[in-house]
Amino acid sequence: MNRNYIPTWYKQKATSIDVNKIASLGFKLVFCDIDNTLASPFTKIPSDEVISFIKSFKENNIELVIISNNKEERVKTFAKPLDVKYIFKAKKPNPKNLIKFINDNNYKTNEVLAIGDQIMTDVLCANRAKINVILVDRLEQKEQLITFFPRRLDIFYRKKLKKRNLLKEF
Ligand SMILES: [Mg+2]
Repeated sequence: MNRNYIPTWYKQKATSIDVNKIASLGFKLVFCDIDNTLASPFTKIPSDEVISFIKSFKENNIELVIISNNKEERVKTFAKPLDVKYIFKAKKPNPKNLIKFINDNNYKTNEVLAIGDQIMTDVLCANRAKINVILVDRLEQKEQLITFFPRRLDIFYRKKLKKRNLLKEF
């Protein structure tokens, strides 16, 4: 299996991630996906749970940036109540938008963490950018036509990772 498909850590649910632990590990910047990571693709605005999760990053002096392959309107509408920077049409797994943000804002790659639900986009992108990544389970089980094939591959690789004991709990 491609080593770039192996996440640094795994957590079932993004909002269950211990933000104090992220801070204690020295991370200063976190890139977080929206769809199926923070919310169902059918939910336009963040829940109270997500708002307080994002707030805990600010309390720990960690910059959180929303990074999504989705279009501007979806990303902007979701990010606005959270009062965070966002990158739309990010073209993950291409890491160039992440790398540009890291360099423009003078972060070191070992200070940067990504959170996402897809091996073929989020995990691959983070590993290409040489940053750590937490893989989470997707929130919405209902299939969207556009994600049918990536989803099948994601299930296949998750099974493989589990079998080889490569999903390290965060
Ligand atoms: Mg996603």
